[in-house]
Amino acid sequence: MPKKLLLHIGGREVAASDGGTFDVINPATGETLYEVSHATESDVDAAVVEAQNAFDDGRWRNIAARDRARILNKAATLLTDRIDEFAELESKQVGRTLREMRAQLRRLPEWLEYFGAVAQTQEGTSPNFGANHLNVVRRVPLGVVALITPWNHPLLITMKKVSVALAAGNSLVIKPSELGPAVPMVLVRLLEEAGVPGGVVNVVPGLGRTTGKALSEHRGLAKIDFTGGTETGRVIAANAGKSLIPVTAELGGKAPVLIFDDVNIAQAVAGALFAAFVATGQTCVQGARILVARSIFDEVVQLLVKRTKDLRLGNPLDLDTQVGPLVSQNQRNIVSAAVERARQSGATILCGGRIPEGEQFTSGWFYEPTVIADVTPEHDLWCQEVFGPVTLIVPFDDENDAIAQANDSPFGLAASVWTRDIGRAIRVGNTLDCGIVWINDHHRIDPSSPWGGFKASGIGSENGLDAYRGYTQQQSLIINTADEKFDWFATSDDVRYS
Ligand code: NAP
Repeated sequence: MPKKLLLHIGGREVAASDGGTFDVINPATGETLYEVSHATESDVDAAVVEAQNAFDDGRWRNIAARDRARILNKAATLLTDRIDEFAELESKQVGRTLREMRAQLRRLPEWLEYFGAVAQTQEGTSPNFGANHLNVVRRVPLGVVALITPWNHPLLITMKKVSVALAAGNSLVIKPSELGPAVPMVLVRLLEEAGVPGGVVNVVPGLGRTTGKALSEHRGLAKIDFTGGTETGRVIAANAGKSLIPVTAELGGKAPVLIFDDVNIAQAVAGALFAAFVATGQTCVQGARILVARSIFDEVVQLLVKRTKDLRLGNPLDLDTQVGPLVSQNQRNIVSAAVERARQSGATILCGGRIPEGEQFTSGWFYEPTVIADVTPEHDLWCQEVFGPVTLIVPFDDENDAIAQANDSPFGLAASVWTRDIGRAIRVGNTLDCGIVWINDHHRIDPSSPWGGFKASGIGSENGLDAYRGYTQQQSLIINTADEKFDWFATSDDVRYS
C-alpha cells in the first residue's frame, strides 16, 4: 500500500481542498510509493496566507539571530542522526544510488550550520552621511518566499534554499517536484521538531502546471527562488516580472570538461566519468561535452569507453550499484530520442545508446551510459541539455580552440579544466563563460561557495554571502543628531539643506 503524504500548511498536515492526489513511483521498480495530496490554487493561497501571518507576527523573524542559529544547528544534528533514513527515501523516490545519496546527504547539515553562522555574524554598516546625521544600514528579511525545486537532488536543492531563507528570517512556501516530494515533506517536520515555529515553512506538493503555476503567479510573494529547466525559468520569471517579484533562477547546463595533453590520463578519465555519469547524468553540471587535446584523443576515448562499459547498472539500493535508472519513463524517452537523433544525423555511438537487457532492468527506467563521438555544433546534441547518461567526446587543436568550443553554448553554468599547468588552468578558467569552474575536479560544492550560472543558466546564485544578501533587503535608518531647530518654511535664509 502506498503511503499517504499530505500538504503542510500552518504547521498542520492537511489534505488538498478538493481531495485530489497524485502518485510517486519508484523508478527502479515501478512500485507506487506514495499517494500525495495535490495542492490546489486555494491551498497555495492558504499556504501563502499562513506564511504571511507567521512573518507579520514575528514568530520567527523577531527571534534573535543567535536563537535562530541555535534552532538551525539543532535541525542539523537531527538530520545527521537520520541521514541513512533520508538517503533511502531519496534513493527510492528518484532512483539515485544509495551510495551517492549517503555521500551527498551527509553534507547537508553543513548548510544549516553555515547559514546559522552567517546570520549571527552579519553586521550592518554606517555610511558617512554627514556631521548632523547617523546613518545605520541593516539587512531585514524579505517576507514570504516561494521555493520551487526540481527532482534531481530533492533534498540538496531544498536545503540550499531553506537554510539561507530561514537563517535570514523569512517565511517559506515550498513547491517540490511532483517526482520527488517525499523528502522535502519529511524535512519540514524535522525543522519544526528542532524549533522552527509552525506556519514558517509550508509545503504544497503538486504538479508544475497547476500548483507550481498557482504559486509562481501568486501576488503575495516577496521573492521566488527557482531551480529547474531554462524554459520553466523563463515562464516563472515572466510571471514574477509582472508583479516586480525578484527571482533567483538556477537553470540548465551543458558543462564542458576540458582535458589538456599534460594530464595523467587515468586521473582525467576518472574525473570525466564522474562528471558525466554520477546521478545517471541527471545533474545540471553534468560533464556533457568532453573536449580532449587531439594528441591524446584516441587514448582518452579508449579508456573512457572501457570505463563506461564497466559501470555497474542496477538496483539503486544495492551499495555495489554505480548507476541507477532515469527518474521516469518520460525522462528515458527524452534521452533515448536525443541519442536516436544524433545517430541518424551521423554521430558515432561509441558505447551504450540503448536500454540494457536483462530481467533486472525490465521494470525500471534504465538506460546504458553512452559516449558519442563525431558530434559537431550543427547537431542539436551539441547545445541541448539531455539530462541523462549521455556525453559527447570531441577533439580540440589548441587552447584557443578548446575555449571557443567550451564557450559555444547557450548555457554558462559550469566547466572543468584538467591540466597540470597552473598558468594554463588559470588562463583558461578566466576565459570560460560560466559561473563555476573546477580545476582538476568536478561536481564539488560547499555552502560558502557561490553557485550560479551565466547566460541561459540562471539569475543570481545560491550558497555563500550573496545568497544571504539575496534573501534580505537593505533598510537605511537616517537619524538626525543635530541640536538646532530646523524649519525650512519659516525662513528665507540661505540655509544648508543636508
Ligand atoms: P522543471 O521541469 O523545470 O521543474 C522544476 C520545478 O518547476 C518542478 O517543481 C516543476 O514541477 C515546476 N514547474 C514546472 N512547470 C512549472 C510552471 N509552469 N510554473 C511553476 N512551476 C513549474 O525541471 P526538472 O525536470 O524538475 O529539473 C531538471 C532541470 O533542472 C534541468 O534543466 C537541470 O539542469 C535543472 N537544474 C538546475 C540546477 C542548477 O543549480 N542550476 C540544479 C538542478 C537542476 P513538476 O516537477 O511537477 O513539473
